[in-house]
Order: sequence, then C-alpha cells, then structure tokens
Amino acid sequence: MAWQGSTRRSRLPKDWPRIRARVLRRDKGVCQAVFSDGRLCGQPATQVDHIVPGDDHRLANLQALCAWCHARKSASEGGAAAARTRVRTDRPKPTHPALED
Ligand SMILES: [Zn+2]
Repeated sequence: MAWQGSTRRSRLPKDWPRIRARVLRRDKGVCQAVFSDGRLCGQPATQVDHIVPGDDHRLANLQALCAWCHARKSASEGGAAAARTRVRTDRPKPTHPALED
C-alpha cells in the first residue's frame, strides 16, 4: 500500500508499533467497521484506524480495520471525492409492453 503523505495530517508517535499491536490484540484482529445495515465487517484486520482523524492516539480513538474498510473510510473522509465515485444503482426503466411500437 502506498503511503499517502500528502493527505496525512497527523504524525504517529514513536511507540506507534506497540500501540498498533495493542489495538489489534484488543479487537481480536477483527475489523470493527459496522456497515449501514448494522452488521460488523468481521474480516481479518491488518490496519489500525483513528476513529476521529487527528493526533489522538489513545486506545479509545483507535480501532482495528481491514484494508478495504480503512480505504473506504479514508475515501469518505475526503468528502467530495467519495461523492463523485459513488456507484449508481439505478436500473434501466422497464418499458410496458402495451407502450411498445
Ligand atoms: Zn472491514
């Protein structure tokens, strides 16, 4: 994974590797993301996310995430960029047989 230095506003503390390991252990290595329907992602977590982006590195502000959820969360924090890439789910309108020529 490429390190996106330009979008990273916070600087990680020196003991970050230890904090990171503690978060992954606390969350049992399971992604803590909750989908809009209330289900827990539950995939194996490999990354640690700041729940509120910034310099708060306390365990309460950290959660284990899988790579996919972390990427998705980072994208949504970008705001407008995420809105532009939203997938359209519209289906083509069915034509009523009586209206066909
Ligand atoms: Zn996940």
